[in-house]
Formats: sequence, structure tokens, C-alpha cells
Amino acid sequence: MSAVKEKKKKRGLVVLLDLDGTLHDSHGFWIAASRNAIKAMVENGFSVDEEKAFKRLKGIYSKNPYSNRHYNDLLRSFGFPEDPKIISAGIRAFHRTKEKKLRPYRDVAWFLEFLKKKQIPARIVTDGLPVKQWDKLHRLGLSRFFNKGDVFCTGARTTASEEIPREKNVVFYRRVFAALGVNPSNAIVVGDREESDVAPPKSLGATTVKVLRGKYAGEKTAADHAVNSFKQVSRIIKKEAVKRAGIEWGKKLKELEKSLRLGG
Ligand SMILES: [Mg+2]
Repeated sequence: MSAVKEKKKKRGLVVLLDLDGTLHDSHGFWIAASRNAIKAMVENGFSVDEEKAFKRLKGIYSKNPYSNRHYNDLLRSFGFPEDPKIISAGIRAFHRTKEKKLRPYRDVAWFLEFLKKKQIPARIVTDGLPVKQWDKLHRLGLSRFFNKGDVFCTGARTTASEEIPREKNVVFYRRVFAALGVNPSNAIVVGDREESDVAPPKSLGATTVKVLRGKYAGEKTAADHAVNSFKQVSRIIKKEAVKRAGIEWGKKLKELEKSLRLGG
């Protein structure tokens, strides 16, 4: 979007959606894919207990999710030397699971159609590298709802002139709102995680919706709304749209009254 267009803030609502854990069960997928990877590694000579290896891998992954050496580190942690045959078998099994298990939550496509019908723009705000996140959108069958500039990723490459935050913090959301040319008060942010989807946008004045699904469903939340389905999100959006239409009408009415008084 050009700088000229950015200057004038748009008035309508915009919906910002988290991807992992919100549009699909990323945690459930990771478990299935990692178990398949370990199974394949064991079949290829990594002679360890699968359950033990899975627990170890979870620890390695949580320390550095962006690393591309998880399986190398797993082998090393069991005292195995670097072994490309074993590692590649694990990587292949992990990727093959994507074909079978990467699916959106069942009400997501319906919800995106609803937004399209209502002409409410939807954008993705997500942790991870753009190519990887787009790959997920393709596999989930959701890429048709988004264009190139609609997906905002942390961890995108740092260029000489700008540094993109590596996490979804206040700085990151400020950048997103500026790029979209919207006031945070006109944004509805939907996500599954308090620290990245609720707290930062809420502090900037956005309406926040926490989806109670997956790993973080039990977290304490300060979100404006906590929901179990996208049907509920659609109702919140309808209400917010009505509220804004009311405010706009109120403004117009006041202007009219003022002009009438001046005229009279
Ligand atoms: Mg998430």
C-alpha cells in the first residue's frame, strides 16, 4: 500500500486472524507429525524408545521452534552421531503427515466466506516465516481467501531499513495497523493465545476475541470476548458493525443539526 493511501485512515471494520492454533489445530498436527517422524527415524536405525524420544523432541522444539536442526539435536541428545539417513527419514515422515493431517477447523471456511459476503476485510497475523505460513494456508485450502499483502508474519527477514519483530508484540501490531491504514479501534483481533493475540492488540485499543481451542484454551484471559466457535465470532462482528454504523449516523445527525442551526 502506498504512503499516500496510508494517510487517510479507513473507517470500516477489519478482522485480524491468527493462524496456528486458531484456524487449525497446529499443536495436534505437530504431535502427529513428530510421532510419525520418530517412528521413521527408529525404523532407519535410531534405536531408542519412541516415547522417550518424543518427550525429548518436545523439549528441544520448545527451546527453539525456528531451528532446522531439531532431529540433529535429538540424535545428539541420545549420543548418536550425525546421521543423514535417519534425519532425512524423519523430515520426510513429518512432511508426509501434512498431506493427511493439516486441515482447518471445520467452521473456518464458513467464517471466511461470511466475511467475504459482508465485505469485511480479513488479514492474517502470524508467527513464522512467510513462505512457511503461506504453505500452510495452501495446504489448509484457505489461500484463496487472501492476497499477497494480506498475511503479516513475524520472523520475516530483516532488511537494511527495517527490522520486523520476531514475536507478535505491540511494535508488531502497530506496524500492521499502520500498513493497513486502520485505527486499532476498528480492528477485531482473533487468536488462541493471550500473550500474542490478546494483550498487545488490546493495549492498542483493538477488540480482542480469544478462541478457546487447543493448547491454550485454559489460559486466563483478559480478552473482550472468549468463544468456542467462529459462529460466535461472526455474531460479535455483526454487533460491532451495528455499533459503528450507529456512531457514524450519530455524527451525521449532529452535523445536520449544526448546519440547520447555522442556516436558521
Ligand atoms: Mg496461535
